[in-house]
Amino acid sequence: MIHHSWAEPFKIKMVELLKMTTPAQRKKALQNAGYNTFLLKSEDVYIDLLTDSGTSAMSDQQWAGMMLGDEAYAGSKNFYNLEAAVKKYYGYKYVIPTHQGRGAENILSQIMIKKGDVIPGNMYFTTTRLHQELAGGVFYDVIIDEAHDSSNLFPFKGNVDIGKLERLVKKFGAKKIPYICVATTVNMAGGQPISLGNLKDLRNYTNKHGIKIILDMTRVAENAFFIQQREEGYKRKSIASIVKEICSYTDGATFSAKKDALVNIGGFLALNDKNKYEEASNLVVVYEGLHTYGGLAGRDMEAMAIGIGESVNDNHIRARIGQVLYLGKKLNDLKIPIVNPIGGHGIFIDAKKFLPHLKQIQFPAQALAAEIYEDSGVRTMERGIVSAGRNSKTGDHYYPELELVRLTIPRRVYTQAHMDVIAESIESVYAKRDKIKGLEMIYEPAYLRFFQAKFKKL
Ligand SMILES: *Cc1c(COP(=O)(O)O)cnc(C)c1O
Repeated sequence: MIHHSWAEPFKIKMVELLKMTTPAQRKKALQNAGYNTFLLKSEDVYIDLLTDSGTSAMSDQQWAGMMLGDEAYAGSKNFYNLEAAVKKYYGYKYVIPTHQGRGAENILSQIMIKKGDVIPGNMYFTTTRLHQELAGGVFYDVIIDEAHDSSNLFPFKGNVDIGKLERLVKKFGAKKIPYICVATTVNMAGGQPISLGNLKDLRNYTNKHGIKIILDMTRVAENAFFIQQREEGYKRKSIASIVKEICSYTDGATFSAKKDALVNIGGFLALNDKNKYEEASNLVVVYEGLHTYGGLAGRDMEAMAIGIGESVNDNHIRARIGQVLYLGKKLNDLKIPIVNPIGGHGIFIDAKKFLPHLKQIQFPAQALAAEIYEDSGVRTMERGIVSAGRNSKTGDHYYPELELVRLTIPRRVYTQAHMDVIAESIESVYAKRDKIKGLEMIYEPAYLRFFQAKFKKL
């Protein structure tokens, strides 16, 4: 039964009390954190939109599953439940659990990539690209141009530009391209989906050239929702059937269960090729644990197996994205510059448009995230020049076109009234935007610098 409103298909059984802070406390906390919201203490945060990763509220069914943990070193019952869920909902033949998504990316990169290989992708993701590089590969962005324009309303800004892929094939030869990494609802583009039409075309093209498709299926259910809403012929298809169809055009996948699958920790690598699976299950022992637990407790695998089933429920996904769209519409009504169309897992503020008086090297998105926290205790994060890092060959900063502040909405955690408070805070920061100063980086770690870099106010 589908009603007009997106209201949640659950009720609340337990709550977590939050600390309310004063402006003076927040100012101090921010200075101590070097203006990096990753370095704030969670205790000092009122509404935490840092990430949707591992921050979901589990259901009573998942918590009950935690009590059914079979904590055996090998062959845990919960592993077989997870394997069955992956086969049932995603259709992959083989699955190896990992402690989270990047564990799977590490194993995948090591078994697939040789030094000098080229790995195309529909925009980079931080950990994914780093593992490709550590394995000796070079990442190339083949997302359509529309993805780089925050105001372009194209409904599938996650699509792959097959022309760009073809140019790579011509330049390097298909033999140098072991696979293309295809992400669902592309995080760095603002949670923008890929269409099934595009994925089918890509499958045809890659089949001709012997290139594999590996799905970064971290937010596959959210992508399926946009296909259901926007793609011709899918209005009456269930989320579960669209998810399975997406997977069917690919050869394997990495998965961070901390997003769609509604758990606090977990991930997996899924493959259809038996030989590659055997290689991977051998390597996982080195980095994660035996191939039937991969760094997870039995109870974690059980919660993941149940969460996968809940994540493809039509009412769940409609309420989940409904809440994101609710906040996005409020910000659009206030004329705040955000990425449109609104994405699946969060709202992305265009910091270049919000703070046009700052140069990109003054870290506008980082400065804006700090300002929002100081205003209201709402924690957001930077997705711009700091996240993009440096070119490993030249040492220069990457200057990404999109300089964004991400407001990521955890699943099943906050209420509509929380969304209202967030919008009010962004509105008040927008009113004083002319006075916001840029930042200077005073500490820069070598890898994934956005996590630990420190700044001071200019
Ligand atoms: C989170 C994420 C990953 C990495 O997964 P972790 O569980 O954080 O290691 C990979 N790809 C995408 C698109 C993600 O959002």
